[in-house]
Amino acid sequence: MLIMSDAEKQIMHQSKSDQSRHGGTEAIPGLSIVIPVYNEEENIPEIYRRLKNVLEQVANDWEIIFVDDGSRDNSAGVIRQINVADPRVKIIGLSTNLGHQIALTAGLDHAEGKMVITMDADLQHPPELIPQLISRYQEGAEVVQGVKLVQKKRGWLKILAAFAFYSVICKILRIQIEPNTSDFRLLSRRVVLLLREMRERHRFLRGLIPWLGFKIARVEYEAPERFAGQPKYTLRKLASLALSGVVSFSSVPLRIFFYLGLVGAFLCVGYALFAIAAKIFWEAAPSGWASLIVVITFLGSFQLIAMGIQGEYLAKVYEEIKRRPLYIIAWKKGFSDD
Ligand code: UDP
Ligand code: MG
Repeated sequence: MLIMSDAEKQIMHQSKSDQSRHGGTEAIPGLSIVIPVYNEEENIPEIYRRLKNVLEQVANDWEIIFVDDGSRDNSAGVIRQINVADPRVKIIGLSTNLGHQIALTAGLDHAEGKMVITMDADLQHPPELIPQLISRYQEGAEVVQGVKLVQKKRGWLKILAAFAFYSVICKILRIQIEPNTSDFRLLSRRVVLLLREMRERHRFLRGLIPWLGFKIARVEYEAPERFAGQPKYTLRKLASLALSGVVSFSSVPLRIFFYLGLVGAFLCVGYALFAIAAKIFWEAAPSGWASLIVVITFLGSFQLIAMGIQGEYLAKVYEEIKRRPLYIIAWKKGFSDD
């Protein structure tokens, strides 16, 4: 007997509607490239040029979807110009800057290819690696993950932050994310359709994809420096991404405070017994205003931290239950329903 999960039914359904949308026999693009863009006007002509060189060799039918994440420079204008000359280049304009992960999501929602590759606009994800990604897919991998070997010229603060996040926090909290994974990866259509069903607001694709449980093939690469412009990920955006990663994939931080509370309670009982005994047997009144203050402020600050962490989870729950759309598309170009 054939038993299908809801997700698989959805995929069946979706692929049928794909066929009808494409007039049944018309092939869906074999390969979609999704590129989030935030103020990358100088990089776009170059990434298009290099991508096109590679894509012409590996696929007959491909599309490049740029997602303009509310750029304030002329990125959108540059992409529109390319679209006029080459309609395989499409663009989705988000209403405002919503961040890399949401921009990626918007692109994945529109990508029609049997294979979808996501990459950055700054050429730190070399297009020349695409044939390698595709060959791993053809060997049977549903996800092919680009893994950075070394990255030249990365600020020490970012290196330290990445180490703290991947090697310390993720290890302790048992979040399964391999260090140095990037958002340079190939996804099968099946994985893309599953991701479309995961509508959580606080998206951390580096965690969501391993969560799906498919076997992940790795392709290692050396990340060159940015072709042009400044990094768009500020330390604040990185910190917020890391926090999403932790809060979305682990509830251990909540539990840590439960255990700390237990330990504290035992210590307090012990200290109380000691104080009572001292009073009765040695008649020594517990001295020490200082120790009292230390205990009070210590416990007070622990409580505040605990409340802060609870608040963080509560805020996430609140944001999720509002069920607002993840992004608003201001305009599109190159799609059948522009
Ligand atoms: N990006 C985006 N929205 C943002 C920040 C970044 O779409 O709010 C895009 C950016 O244009 C680039 C990719 O995400 O294509 C990665 O950004 P960046 O190169 O700054 O990250 P890093 O290489 O430092 O990890
Ligand atoms: Mg970059």
